[in-house]
Amino acid sequence: SKWVYSFGAGHNEGRADMRDLLGGKGANLAEMASIGLPVPPGFTITTEVCTAFYENARRYPDELRGQVADALSRVETAVGLRFGDRAKPLLVSVRSGARVSMPGMMDTVLNLGLNDDTVQGLAAASNDERFAWDSYRRFIQMYGSVVLGVDHHRFEEIIETTKHDAGVTEDTALTAADWQRVVAGYKDMVAQETGKPFPEAPEDQLWGAIGAVFGSWMNPRANTYRRLHDIPASWGTAVNVQAMVFGNMGNDCATGVCFTRDPSTGENIFYGEYLVNAQGEDVVAGIRTPQPLSAARAKPDEKPMETVLPNAYDELMRVRETLERHYRDMQDIEFTVQQNKLYMLQTRNGKRTAAASLRIAVEMANEGLIDREEAVKRVNPSALDQLLHPTLDPKAKRTLLSKGLPASPGAASGTIVFNADEAELRAGKGEAVVLVRIETSPEDIHGMHAARGIVTTRGGMTSHAAVVARGMGRPCVAGAGGITVDYGAQTLTAGGHVLRAGETITLDGATGEVFVGSVAMIEPKLSGDFATLMEWADEFRRMKVRTNAETPLDAETARKFGAEGIGLCRTEHMFFDPARIGAVRQMIMAADERGRRVALEKLLPFQREDFTDLFRIMAGLPVTVRLLDPPLHEFLPHADAELEEVAQALGADIEAMRRRAAELAEANPMLGHRGCRLGISYPEIYEMQARAIFEGALAVAKETGAAPVPEIMIPLVGTRRELEITRAQVDKVAREVFAAAGTTLEYLVGTMIELPRAALVADRIAEVADFFSFGTNDLTQTVFGLSRDDAGKFLPHYVESGILPKDPFVSIDVDGVGAMVRIAVEGGRKTKHDLKLGICGEHGGDPSSIAFCEQVGLDYVSCSPYRVPVARLAAAQAAL
Ligand code: ADP
Ligand code: MG
Ligand code: MG
Repeated sequence: SKWVYSFGAGHNEGRADMRDLLGGKGANLAEMASIGLPVPPGFTITTEVCTAFYENARRYPDELRGQVADALSRVETAVGLRFGDRAKPLLVSVRSGARVSMPGMMDTVLNLGLNDDTVQGLAAASNDERFAWDSYRRFIQMYGSVVLGVDHHRFEEIIETTKHDAGVTEDTALTAADWQRVVAGYKDMVAQETGKPFPEAPEDQLWGAIGAVFGSWMNPRANTYRRLHDIPASWGTAVNVQAMVFGNMGNDCATGVCFTRDPSTGENIFYGEYLVNAQGEDVVAGIRTPQPLSAARAKPDEKPMETVLPNAYDELMRVRETLERHYRDMQDIEFTVQQNKLYMLQTRNGKRTAAASLRIAVEMANEGLIDREEAVKRVNPSALDQLLHPTLDPKAKRTLLSKGLPASPGAASGTIVFNADEAELRAGKGEAVVLVRIETSPEDIHGMHAARGIVTTRGGMTSHAAVVARGMGRPCVAGAGGITVDYGAQTLTAGGHVLRAGETITLDGATGEVFVGSVAMIEPKLSGDFATLMEWADEFRRMKVRTNAETPLDAETARKFGAEGIGLCRTEHMFFDPARIGAVRQMIMAADERGRRVALEKLLPFQREDFTDLFRIMAGLPVTVRLLDPPLHEFLPHADAELEEVAQALGADIEAMRRRAAELAEANPMLGHRGCRLGISYPEIYEMQARAIFEGALAVAKETGAAPVPEIMIPLVGTRRELEITRAQVDKVAREVFAAAGTTLEYLVGTMIELPRAALVADRIAEVADFFSFGTNDLTQTVFGLSRDDAGKFLPHYVESGILPKDPFVSIDVDGVGAMVRIAVEGGRKTKHDLKLGICGEHGGDPSSIAFCEQVGLDYVSCSPYRVPVARLAAAQAAL
């Protein structure tokens, strides 16, 4: 079989689409050569050799040596040099190249083929002794450290000694004779270190380097990287052997790296750096300061390639054009100039920031390089998240305090506050605060909302703080274990810093870093390319995108991001407001219906106002309101003062209140007296809410002329009868309100599907439902039988060790929870073919979950405001 593929000099056996076989580097070298770009000839030993090598106890396939010899002699003929020839020696580079670029793989060895004989030939051919001996010592250094594993300090020591003896301080002051002494010193040292003489025969050098590349595929660094990035070991790496060209042969030579567009902003400019008279990785090594490519972007004291090497620069500009037209994407290029002639050594699709990816996609579509559909496909929806929040200015100075988990993206600066009430108070006065807690709980919600950002010292990516912060679009760093919080002293301590409440910190929720003081930020831009790409995405999207929102601020933010209605308004969140919590507690603690009605009377105007505000913002759009589904314990009074307050309001004594609270306490509130069970026990609660909804909707219809479409959602339904009973309550209130107002309004009544039983009997439930909305947070809990609040103890381990492929609260578990959704979709639509279907769990903002929603044919997804653009783009990609 064929193990070796040639490229260059008019004989190209590979193509760009053969990256699995040839690795990324090899495939693109062949592709560049075949479209006529100047690529030094060479050959690629395939990834299959790597696989065969490991399957056969580290032995190469029999035909390999012969095929390598043939390919090498083709290169010799092409360049008119011979490997190991003392007069006209061919030198090569040996370069690793896997399918995907992978740190941990062997570094490139340059100038291979040099020895005490061939160095003479190189000196004669270049007419430059110093260049030849410098190249030779570079080779021994690279080969010695990369292939033979000699510590690179040992080489540097010898150079230092030589400079000392010669009485010079700069490498550039060393003469040919000095470098010759360095070479001798290197060889002695390597022989001592390895117990063997440095290999002189070019053939041995070549096979040593090839063996080192294949050997590096299984080194610990590469193994770790593969494990973290899900790269199978069976992919293997390829080896590229390529004729050397020299960027270090004089002042008409150079080497450089560039991007065809600016990788950080995406601007269509040629972006890169080069060094005159330099080789290989000198540019990135930082020994000399690299210079810019284009004259237009050069500072006065800089020497741009455009003026220094104008011919090679023009050629490079043409290559840039050719490559972009050919690959139809931004390229990351490596090149070398030898005696004014340009050679291409690598190209690949360039890595870029989220902002650049957006701009490049839009501009390439406008330039006609790609179509709009392709542009929409190219931008990673999750990366958009970064663009919607302020980010730290990459150029700004910063002092790291500690690092935790990147729990919710965005950057925020503010004064340290250690409790939620204080956060709300200070924020109310216009202060930017950062809430710092050991952990957060539902009692902290108002403080989290008021804060610009949240830091916790304990908890993971699914901790309360992380989940709530993501939902609110607040930047959050969770589990920053390096920070110690002392609530009593009102201080935090980390890495030798002690900061007190009121001092400023900055957090970056995208990286998990926390900094001392404030760090300059860049505000997001929602216009321009962002708006354009969103418009294009909307053309391709089938599913609607709504938002989860219960405050006017969230609803407005979501509208700004393009939400097409509200998919989930959780009414219990409205009850946490300090002005209402008293009445809510009275309602819960009341001994009888009469007591409850008194409390509900107080709540009605608040609720009506809540809904009126939301309907006004969403005028003409659907708004799904979920009736009360509280984990009761979250509202129960605990402290004596709270008990006292409720007792007074209800005209009861505090002991009775304590007994009632004990009575209401549940062993397992998540599976307890909540959702429609509460609505069935205490119908007056849902009646009040339905009244508030209808009265609010009528008010807005009258005021704006655009009637909202309330979609009233009954939570935690498990049986048809439960929905039938609660729906009848709602319909009755509607009739009453409409009769009193002398007008009507279109509305829907449906249910959340969040219990396995509801999914299984969805066909029956659909008989009395106008819509289903999948509450996949609870559905995931109930299908898995795990509590999200307790999952932090084992779920991270499950995900890290691959017991579960992903956190099922982040990305929907297609096999289990997804199967349950499918059953419900089929059942529901069998009964009502036009049953409206949506999703309102956190999954509604997760791209892979959105793809699943498209597959099963949901009508809309609903997600937190800041995820709306992500969902719009992901929904478009899912439809394409
Ligand atoms: P990496 O994957 O780390 O970028 P490469 O194999 O691309 O490693 O090699 C790094 C650099 O070495 C290249 O950018 C180029 O400057 C230099 N190089 C590699 N092969 C050759 C060659 N045949 N002639 C001249 N320089 C080379
Ligand atoms: Mg490298
Ligand atoms: Mg490279």
